Amino acid sequence: MDMKGGVLMKRYEIGKLLGQGTFAKVYHARNLKTGMSVAIKVIDKEKILKVGLIDQIKREISVMRQVRHPHVLELYEVLATRTKIYFILEYAKGGELFNKVAKGKLKEDVARRYFQQLIAAVDYCHSRGVAHRDLKPENLLLDENGNLKVSDFGLSALAESKRQDGLLHTTCGTPAYVAPEVINRKGYDGAKADIWSCGVILFVLLAGYLPFHDPNLMELYKKIGRADFKFPNWFPPDVRRLISKILDPNPSTRISLIKIMESSWFRKGLDSRAICIIRETKEPPPLDDDTNFGLNIDSSSSDVDQKQELSKISNLNAFDIISYSPGFDLSGLFEGTDQRKEVRFTG
Ligand code: ATP
Ligand code: MG
Repeated sequence: MDMKGGVLMKRYEIGKLLGQGTFAKVYHARNLKTGMSVAIKVIDKEKILKVGLIDQIKREISVMRQVRHPHVLELYEVLATRTKIYFILEYAKGGELFNKVAKGKLKEDVARRYFQQLIAAVDYCHSRGVAHRDLKPENLLLDENGNLKVSDFGLSALAESKRQDGLLHTTCGTPAYVAPEVINRKGYDGAKADIWSCGVILFVLLAGYLPFHDPNLMELYKKIGRADFKFPNWFPPDVRRLISKILDPNPSTRISLIKIMESSWFRKGLDSRAICIIRETKEPPPLDDDTNFGLNIDSSSSDVDQKQELSKISNLNAFDIISYSPGFDLSGLFEGTDQRKEVRFTG
């Protein structure tokens, strides 16, 4: 169904299609009340009911609600109709980071800045017990100021089911970013697997191509399992050291996030205070301070007002209702709207 031009729940005017993933279509949209841009991720309920994920997704949504970080794409609210779930997300105007890499490798300082932002986001989420499990280029977006926004944090149920479905083996999902222990399906620590993916991402930013590639999937798996890759000759020694420690096939000896942050390559250009700021972002940061360690952020005041307004709205509704209602009954969301009769989730 093409939603373009439609109005969702009398509140969001749907604009152009931004992209499409395994479970979802993502549209640009405008909040009719505030005028603010958002992205709306539309998920077909049938697809996730089929893979039996409703309970886990409920849990994950309630977790995502607690995750607020300058480099984690914010989930404002969740709406639903009989057939669809709508994630109302912060809009990442700059699109995918990897459109930039597609044009060629990045300068070292630029790559470092994105990597610092990525690690800050991942560390923050891990400290709250949330692993990503699907870190890859499509999930690294940029805002209008060129700051990194990691998307799909907390939706690991979807990431997992893709793997179990075998979708990893199709063009929908690439194993190129996936840790060896995940491929071996032994049961694994999602946080450690995320660190591996960050290493692959760093390699790609600096090299302009993947560390592990092979047209034959079995060969690719073997290369990943052995961490069989070569550094391009322009990689400096300190980043080689760092990447080698991240791309350790053994998750129990793989470098930790804190050690990554202490590495000389990571710290270049940051003062020690910045490292503390990275680790201490516990509360939703005020939008005008330098919690992204003074790298940028420059929101006009009206944007800030709109953003705060939207956050306030989202604090009241979908999340609480979803987390506390036993049957995933979303009827409270549709008070006074036409969809009212269609809102009950059934298994
Ligand atoms: P997968 O289904 O494996 O997660 P994916 O991450 O590409 O794949 P989606 O998360 O559904 O799929 O997103 C599809 C695309 O839409 C993204 O790759 C991105 O280009 C775009 N997109 C997603 N969210 C936003 C957003 N908040 N702002 C701007 N563009 C977005
Ligand atoms: Mg995504």
